[in-house]
Amino acid sequence: MTQLRDVEQVVIVGSGPAAWTAALYAARARLDPLVLEGAPSREMIPGGQLMFTTDVENYPGFPDGVTGQELMDRMKAQAVRFDTRVITEDVVDVNVDGNPFVLRSSEGQEVTARTVIIATGARANWLGLENEQRLAQSGGGVSACAVCDGALPAFRDQVLAVVGGGDSAMEEAIYLTKFAKEVVIIHRRDEFRASPIMAERALDNPKIRVEWNTVVTEVLGGDFVEGLRLKDTGTGEERELSVGGFFLAIGHTPNTAFLQGKVELDEAGYILTPTSWRTATNIPGLFAAGDVMDPFYRQAVTAAGTGCMAALEAERWLAHQGAEEAEPAVP
Ligand code: NAP
Repeated sequence: MTQLRDVEQVVIVGSGPAAWTAALYAARARLDPLVLEGAPSREMIPGGQLMFTTDVENYPGFPDGVTGQELMDRMKAQAVRFDTRVITEDVVDVNVDGNPFVLRSSEGQEVTARTVIIATGARANWLGLENEQRLAQSGGGVSACAVCDGALPAFRDQVLAVVGGGDSAMEEAIYLTKFAKEVVIIHRRDEFRASPIMAERALDNPKIRVEWNTVVTEVLGGDFVEGLRLKDTGTGEERELSVGGFFLAIGHTPNTAFLQGKVELDEAGYILTPTSWRTATNIPGLFAAGDVMDPFYRQAVTAAGTGCMAALEAERWLAHQGAEEAEPAVP
């Protein structure tokens, strides 16, 4: 049973690269951090998005690549080596009306903390098709991150499909042309949502073609994706497309439901950090790191970077508060 302090110095919510990096820095700063890493569920497992990818080839320090799971295990082990305490429960509520903050877990446990670092990440949106999740989790050629997985040998010289019509879909399709024989963008409407410059770049690429007014109704394949069943949204006509890889780019949803109305969020639900290059939110003592505050880069290495920043800011905030508390009152 994890021992809790009456008032924790630093509580970190999450268990991806941002969370473990924040924990590592806070632990080495002797702040005795507590991590609420989340409870496993059908949709989420501790470790975050990287637990759903196979090989990670763009995290520095691993020249031969590393599996997402191993990378997260190693990050956690490094934080625990410096005595980070871990509770495997979700946070369902945070009271930020005063400091210390009070967090309530899914098991009803209350944790009181002077600083909190939110690193709950964002989840990629999926179509919700039966074979999609199975093949995504088994490394069967279905992925919600082309930049993470596109360079894997299995996708070389294949016809690859990207679903979506936003900037991410354009960016991912263009990126995939480096490896693919052909990239097919499948979009449900007859015009892209993407910025004109990104759309133009994709449309001008000779390796990219677009299936307009088309939705994916089924992902085909046993151990590896072999094709997609497509449906024309106008005529209702169905057809099959053979593909050697399927990438989703239909947006992300930040895991901030429990923060609604408490912390400033942008329209899409990402936590706002009012000062650029800072992780402090609009609530003093509350910091945000990783994909939950970053709709732009969304990389493991950038998440780890902001985790480090959040821990350093929390440490400085605590030191500043301590100094203020110790200061004699002005007569
Ligand atoms: P997005 O702009 O929300 O686009 C999501 C796309 O997925 C839309 O085209 C949408 O179709 C489609 N979609 C959503 N749900 C779908 C479903 N169930 N079935 C089929 N299609 C579905 O998301 P994003 O592209 O990830 O971009 C997010 C933000 O990051 C944007 O502000 C974007 O500009 C920014 N971003 C910028 C860059 C860059 O500047 N380099 C790169 C990536 C992202 P509809 O259009 O029909 O709604």
